[in-house]
This record gives sequence, structure tokens and C-alpha cells, in this order.
Amino acid sequence: MTTSRVREENAVRKVADCRDFPSESNCTLTIAGEEEEVLGAAAEHAVSVHGHTAGPELREVIRGSLKDEAPTNV
Ligand SMILES: [Zn+2]
Repeated sequence: MTTSRVREENAVRKVADCRDFPSESNCTLTIAGEEEEVLGAAAEHAVSVHGHTAGPELREVIRGSLKDEAPTNV
């Protein structure tokens, strides 16, 4: 029995919501995807748009704020 066919369906997408971050720009961006994708995109966004300093600490902050994506196909 193989589990490869259901992997994609079972993958829980993560959501990084910019409104959860302390920010003065009232940014409402939401980034959704697999955890590593969200971490990378959110870190780039935080640096380029919000002037944060790139690095492991930033990624940890973002990782700690990730939420599971709410299922929409109900
Ligand atoms: Zn933002």
C-alpha cells in the first residue's frame, strides 16, 4: 500500500496573515502554501515591505504565527 497518492491532499497548507504582525502599514497580505513556501515568501515580504531584518530569527517569528489554512472545500 502506497501513501504517495494521498500526500498532496493531506498536506496542510499554512497561512501567514500580515495583519497578525505588528506593523504600521496596515498591510492585509495573506500568504498561503506549504510551510517552507510561506516562510520564504513571508520573510521576503517582511524585509522588502516592512523593513525587517532577514535572518533565522525573522523566520522563527513568522513560523510561530503560521496558522493552518481553513478548509474551503466543505
Ligand atoms: Zn505585509
